[in-house]
Amino acid sequence: MATDQSILAFNPFEGDFGEPGDTMLSNKMVVAAKPHECCHCKSVIPKGERHRCQIGKYGDFMTHRWCATCCELMAQCTDDDDYDSENTDAVDEFEQRAAQAAQGGE
Ligand SMILES: [Zn+2]
Repeated sequence: MATDQSILAFNPFEGDFGEPGDTMLSNKMVVAAKPHECCHCKSVIPKGERHRCQIGKYGDFMTHRWCATCCELMAQCTDDDDYDSENTDAVDEFEQRAAQAAQGGE
């Protein structure tokens, strides 16, 4: 079962950032007030859906949102109840979603 903590603990940008001055300003679960696009798999986050919203300063201010499905996978990635290390299957599946979105064009 995904918990907010296990979702928010996953760092999708590990290795991608790390410039001096980069800051995470906000990292929390929110309810969509209007439709958004998932930054990872490019699916629509419908109004009213609970999803992860992260706001950071990476040179510029950036807002990233992840849909409920991606959140579920992120939670699985950090859920180490049954594993000694990261759940690599879930990480692979999570990464696949981005790859499929990239191949889908639009
Ligand atoms: Zn998504």
